[in-house]
Amino acid sequence: MLFRNLKLVNYVVFGRGSFNQLDAILAPQRKGDAPMIFLVDHFFKGKALPNRIPLRGTDKIIYVDVTFEPKTTQVDALAQSLKDEFGTISGVIGIGGGSAMDLAKAVGLMMNNPGSSADYQGWDLVQKAGVYKAGIPTLSGTGAEVSRTTVLTGPTRKLGMNSDFTPFDQIILDPELTKDAPVNQRFYTGMDCYIHCIESLEGTFLNEFSKSYGEKALQLCQEVFLGNKEWTEVHDDKLMMASYAGGMSIAYSQVGVAHAVSYGLSYLLGTKHGVGNCIVMNHLEEYYPAGVAEFKRMVAENNIDIPVGICNGLSEEDFEKMINVSMGMKPLWENALGKDWEKIMTREKLRALYEKL
Ligand code: NAD
Ligand code: ZN
Repeated sequence: MLFRNLKLVNYVVFGRGSFNQLDAILAPQRKGDAPMIFLVDHFFKGKALPNRIPLRGTDKIIYVDVTFEPKTTQVDALAQSLKDEFGTISGVIGIGGGSAMDLAKAVGLMMNNPGSSADYQGWDLVQKAGVYKAGIPTLSGTGAEVSRTTVLTGPTRKLGMNSDFTPFDQIILDPELTKDAPVNQRFYTGMDCYIHCIESLEGTFLNEFSKSYGEKALQLCQEVFLGNKEWTEVHDDKLMMASYAGGMSIAYSQVGVAHAVSYGLSYLLGTKHGVGNCIVMNHLEEYYPAGVAEFKRMVAENNIDIPVGICNGLSEEDFEKMINVSMGMKPLWENALGKDWEKIMTREKLRALYEKL
């Protein structure tokens, strides 16, 4: 048995207003005149937050369009433009949800690795450390702030650059930054965390390490999404730590059915990760009976709409594509259903599940 030697984020700061420490945190990481590049979620363009970014010298803010999930082409173009403009940079700071943070991780890696980011989609293909990378979440749930992957849609697949070079050097967890998240988006991304917990805790890869984080994250999700009348600062604080702990839980286990199926949706239809997971979770009673029942209570109590009928009218070829992408997620299926998963989740069964969504 080979135990995973888990690479973690190097530095973590947590607290309301901790964003104000960014300048001091970055100072020792600056390499001469090479700038720090801030990849900021386009939602914040024209808002107050960018005025608080500690720009020095030739530092630059680049607003990133996260309407669609990050693509390898987008990463390559960003990295190339930075090389053309600056040669070298001191670091990349991703400020936003999972999309902006993943872009920052990938661009940081591509500053020092040749070729296209598509060449590194997979496990441990990245050869060299990237530049300094920091992540500052403005939405809670994905766990992208702690993970060793950056999920990219490439020419042939949606797959992460999973490597020990991928985790951030620094994360700043300031729950104040999440306060303006729209209710639906906050829920969808929050449910990503809830689903991480269920898939980790109900999976065959479970161990005490994953369990200890997963149980805490699950409890925080329950406190946040059940039995509340109104959303408060405490909810933002708790959800940010739920995201962190949920990410730590899957880092030492794996996700499961909802993620495996939702990857097919996002590859074919561009369905975003959070809402895609919710669409799938809604129909997974067979695999996660208690988790799905509680998920439905959360949906109802928070008055959230989960889209239905998104696979209506798809062609035979479309279903085949989604099934191929989903079936390719072997570790996820194995975690969910055990070593003999292929006997349980047949193509026909998966097809029937997609038809329900
Ligand atoms: P997101 O980053 O795609 O953002 C969703 C929307 O919320 C965007 O319109 C964005 O502009 C907006 N937004 C972000 N912060 C806001 C704020 N404070 N106020 C108002 N609007 C705000 O959403 P997400 O769910 O955080 O991330 C999904 C992405 O994360 C996907 O690309 C997915 O593949 C990736 N992901 C990565 C990992 C990982 O481990 N690397 C894990 C899970 C998901
Ligand atoms: Zn997820």
